Parts: sequence; C-alpha cells; structure tokens
Amino acid sequence: MRPFDEHVVLRFALLIASLIFAALIPDIVTHTEHAFLAVPYAICILFLIYLALFYRFPSSAAQKKMRSDVNVNEVVLEPIRNYERDLQEKDRLFQMMIDVSSEGFWTFDVSSDKVFWSNKVGKILGIESLGDSFDVVKGCVLESDWESFRKSLQQCLNEKRNFTIRMRLLNKHASCEEIVISGRPQCNEAGLLIRVIGSLSANTDSHALVRENDFLSTCDSLTGVNNRQEFLNELAKDVEKAAGRPDYIFAVALLDIDSFAAINDSYSIDVGDQVLRIVADRITASSRTGDCIARIGPDVFALIFRDIQGSDVNGELISIVRNLHAKVKMPLKLEGKELYISVSMSVVVNKDGDCVEDLLANANAVLRDMKKGGNHGGVQFFTGGIREKAMNLYKLEFEIRRAIQAREFMLVYQPIVDIGDGDRIVGFEALVRWNNSERGVISPSEFIPIAEETGLIVPMGAQILRMACEQTKAWVDMGYEDIQVSVNFSAKQFTLDNMVDDVRRILQETKLNPKNLKLEITEYTALCESEKTIEMMRALASMGLQISIDDFGTGYSSLAYLKRFPVHTLKMDKSFVDHVTDDEEDASFARMVIGIAHSMNLGLIAEGVETRDQLDFLRSEGCRLIQGYFFSKPLNSDSALAYLRRHYKGDSAPSQVSMMLQMP
Ligand code: C2E
Ligand code: CA
Ligand code: CA
Repeated sequence: MRPFDEHVVLRFALLIASLIFAALIPDIVTHTEHAFLAVPYAICILFLIYLALFYRFPSSAAQKKMRSDVNVNEVVLEPIRNYERDLQEKDRLFQMMIDVSSEGFWTFDVSSDKVFWSNKVGKILGIESLGDSFDVVKGCVLESDWESFRKSLQQCLNEKRNFTIRMRLLNKHASCEEIVISGRPQCNEAGLLIRVIGSLSANTDSHALVRENDFLSTCDSLTGVNNRQEFLNELAKDVEKAAGRPDYIFAVALLDIDSFAAINDSYSIDVGDQVLRIVADRITASSRTGDCIARIGPDVFALIFRDIQGSDVNGELISIVRNLHAKVKMPLKLEGKELYISVSMSVVVNKDGDCVEDLLANANAVLRDMKKGGNHGGVQFFTGGIREKAMNLYKLEFEIRRAIQAREFMLVYQPIVDIGDGDRIVGFEALVRWNNSERGVISPSEFIPIAEETGLIVPMGAQILRMACEQTKAWVDMGYEDIQVSVNFSAKQFTLDNMVDDVRRILQETKLNPKNLKLEITEYTALCESEKTIEMMRALASMGLQISIDDFGTGYSSLAYLKRFPVHTLKMDKSFVDHVTDDEEDASFARMVIGIAHSMNLGLIAEGVETRDQLDFLRSEGCRLIQGYFFSKPLNSDSALAYLRRHYKGDSAPSQVSMMLQMP
C-alpha cells in the first residue's frame, strides 16, 4: 500500500508552484520594464490553480482503460483471455462430470481420424490402453456386432445420423456382458461434419436382455420375421387344429431366392442382407393378417396361409400367392443400382393326416423339382408324384458327376448362316449332349439346370470349352480360318475367380486363335452385372475373343448393361422369332431388337428360324445372321464338317491340299 495517492501529491505540488508564482506578481508589477509579462504570468498561475483544484485526474482503472484504448492488441486479446479462462473452467467442470458419470465418452475427430476415449471406457471394457482408434472396440466385441457398429458409424459419417447400438462383449475383464454405444455427429457452421461425439456404457438393463432373448428365440434377427423354430411351432399348431376340424384349410409356401449366392458373390454380403430384409418386408406387406411368415434358411422364407375358405380354396389361394410372388420379385434399387431378383415359390395345401414333416418335405420337393427342371422364378403347387420325381432328380445329379469323370458329354454344332452373303456359313453354336449308356442321348434342358444348381457346370463347362476349342482348331487347320464357334457360358462360371485364367489356358493349350471363339452368356447373367462380371468380360474381350448376349429380349431389362459390357453380338430369342409372321407384337419386337443392334453397331443373330416366311421377314428387316432348323439342326462334328465344305466361303478358302486331307 502506498501512503499517498500519486495524484494527491501532484495536485499539492501544482498548488505550491502556483502560490510561489503568485507571490512574484507584485515584484513584476513594481519593475515596470517587466510589467508586460504580468498578464501571461497571471494566466499561467490561474491555469495551474485550476489544474490543482478542479481537474479530476483519472483513477488507476480508468488510466489502464485509457492506455488500452490506444493499444489495439489489448483490445483483441483481453476478451480471448477471459474466454480461455472460462473454457478452462468449463473443461475442468466437464472433466469432473465425465469422471463422476457412470458412462464413458468418446469423440472421433474427422480430420485426424483419431478417437479420444474417456478413462471410464477403459474401465467398462476392462482394458488399460485404449489407443486412439476404434480398434479397441473391435477387439472386445462379437464380430457381427462390430460389423453393425461399423455400418452405423459409417452411416453417421455419410448421412449425419445419430445412432445407438448394443454390442456383446467377449473380453473376460470387462465389467459387463453387453455395452451400449451411441454417437452423434457434430458439424461446423458451414454444415461440414467435424466430429462424432458419443457415449459408451454398460448395458445392465437385465429386463431388456431378457426381452431381447425372448425376441431372439422366436425371431430372425436379420429380417425381424419368425425364425425356423418358431415357424415349426406355429405349423404344428395348424396341423393340430386341422386334425380336429376337417374344414380348416391352410397352405404352406416356401419362397426361395434364386442364385442368392451370386448376389452375395457379385455384390457384397451387405447387399445380400439388404435384399433379404426387403424381401421379408415385401412378404409381410403382401400377406394377410394372421398368416405366419418366417425365414427358415439363408435365402428361404416360409409362410403359412391360414384359414383359406373351403369353397374356393384354389381361387383364393392362387390369387394370394400370385400377388405375393409378383410383389416380391419386383426389381430392387440398392446402392443406386437396379437389382433383379428371381424368386421360386412352392405351395402345398394341407391334406388329411399331413404332419409338419410331410408338408415341408412336399414343399421342398416342389422347389427342387422347379429348380432342376429349369423352371426358376415361378410358382408351383404340389401335386402327388412330385416326390418320386425329386428322387429321380437326386439320381440324375449323381449321374452327372459320374458322367463328367467318364467324359460322356459331347458337342454338336449348329450352323450360323449369313443370308446377306449367299447363305455362307460363318460359324457354329456348340451345344452339349449327354451320351448316356442307359438312356441314350439326353437333352441339355434336362441336365444343364441341375448342373448349374449343383455347381457341376463349372467342371462340365471347362470340359465343353476344351472340346469346342480343339474341334475349332482342327477346322481352322483344315483351312476354315474365319470360322467362329460360340460356346455357351453359364452365370455360375462367372462366379469363379480364376475363370479368365482357365479360358486363357485352354486357348493356349489348344493353340486356338481367340478370334475363332465366341462366348454366349444369357441376358440374365448380364443383368446380374457386378463389377466382377464386367471385369471378367473385359479381360476376356481383351484376349481377342467375342461375347454374345444369348436369349436377348427375355430379360425385359434396361439396356444400360449393353453400354458397360464389351458385347459384340445379340442373339434374338427364339420365342420372338417363332411368331414374327403371325403376331404383330412379336414382329414389332423383332424390329426393335434389330434396330437396337444396328444403332449400337452390334452383330445380330436370329435363332430358332424354322420357316421360309420367318427368314423372309428377318431378311426384309435387315437381319443377316440366321441360326435354326431352316438351315440345319445341330450336327455332330463329321456332319458339321460336311456342312462347312458345302457352305464355307471365307476370305481364305481351304486349299486343295487341305481339302484332300479331309477326304475319308
Ligand atoms: P440356347 O443356348 O438358347 O440354344 C439354342 C437351343 O435352341 C438349342 O437347344 C438348339 O438346338 C435349339 N434350336 C436351334 N434352332 C432351333 C429351331 O429352329 N427350332 C427349335 N425348336 N429349336 C432350335 P439345345 O441344344 O437343346 O440347348 C438348349 C439350351 O441348353 C441352350 O439354349 C443352352 O441354354 C443350354 N445349353 C446347351 N449347350 C450348352 C453348353 O454347352 N453349356 C451351357 N452352359 N449351356 C448349354
Ligand atoms: Ca446359346
Ligand atoms: Ca438362346
């Protein structure tokens, strides 16, 4: 403490000075030569007296303020310092709250990709070192729960959505069995996400756990419909009810998503899961109140249609089933892409004495029958005898396996003719036949669907490709250098990772120039387009072989895939060719397909041409390449060679020598 205020001292000094000066005034006045100084002197004294007595010197606080008024830095920094002080205070408070809370907290910083965990998280998870990523959670929880968390976080980051999920812990040192983790996105003023703030707590709500367990024991956790066990329980109740009431009629349906594995393989398991959820929702939306819906296999749903009115069992049931089937198989929009699904459905109506096992076995037999008969994507009702048929199909599957080993498959070749160039042959389609020792020659329509369903098409397809390449090479060596042979490739073959390498190897080993080979894939395969399929097709095309879209027009699809694929030729399906001369709609469709091929600069082959009228129509519309019984049925290799001799007019006609060599 200072004894005097500096301003009091200053005032006092000024007053003394004024009085001393005032005392000198009479002296000035008496010395007349200094008299002219008297006036300014007096003014000076009066001013000093005024300062000393009346002027208010500023207080120290006001002085500081005056100083800071001229100091710009001080103006800016002071509020910041105050704010920082406030913040530190708040931080301390926040930290205290965090410490006393039973919850753990975390923040994820988007720019640095780092996570900050509060100490409590370590205690809940039973882990000392938490690190600065989410890996610590990954290591503690069930893999499926981690996947759900990962997806939720991704969604939070992409769509700025809050989330709360439960995860089951594996860590023995954890304080609980289950945690609940929540996250909430935080954006800056410009709306850009800067961080996610979240909590993590032990789930001790035992009631919720019990509720959840109850739910899980009857419910399919992915889709929310009943699970297999619950379906069987429910079906047993219906069987029992029907036993006591002969007029009670119900039906069991199985709904199988065709080639579901291909969806998982071509897209991702995530997309597969979404498809299953959408299908479950569609079934639920299209079924009646009281019906039971369940998921009983990875891609199989089951239904119980209850209490069907006795007088019109078939009428009512058929319309319910058809409506449901039509809704379920509608194209889906996922990840911005249109996805086509095919769904096969079997239906069994209960009969006297049918037990749960009978009903399911019959429904299964119908499904298998549909698949093996190539009747994918339809609806079929159970009729007696189908189970015997199913048994025969099992036998066939076994037989195919054996036939691949015994090399019983052989190829026939159907000519493809250019009618714009004197009906010369430009190529063949290789078609497989099964020469069975007991049953004779079996048609591919009988065994290809089974081979596809069982995966046997893969070894069979490789065998077929090698045979076709060897035969084509033999013809090329005879001088038919421009001949092109088309080989059918099934969608299943595109699921093999090393398919492209296999084709390359077969071409190398048979020494066939890829320009002599064409692969036919169905429009359906093209529709299941995935990056993998497209990549494979590009790799195949870059080898120099060509790609043809088979059964073109049957997919009722958008044509977008034609742009993305390296396609060279379209094959107009026989079903359109059949009626071009007597059905105006089919004729218009054929014209449209021809137009598409021309405008996209693609080759076009009309297949299944049987009559002169069909040929004339196609010729008049500008379709030049024809395949069908009109020119020739599929021929064995000897007859195919004979056909070649008669109709080949390639740029490099076979030399006389090679012609001679072909003579028997
Ligand atoms: P696709 O690829 O559409 O083959 C054309 C089918 O139509 C062949 O039947 C052929 O014989 C038949 N066809 C051709 N012209 C006419 C005609 O004028 N009239 C009639 N009524 N039919 C005609 P095929 O050989 O029985 O083959 C049936 C299906 O089996 C093929 O349909 C194809 O999807 C499949 N397939 C045949 N061979 C193979 C193969 O080597 N590999 C694969 N993955 N599938 C094959
Ligand atoms: Ca074909
Ligand atoms: Ca075809």
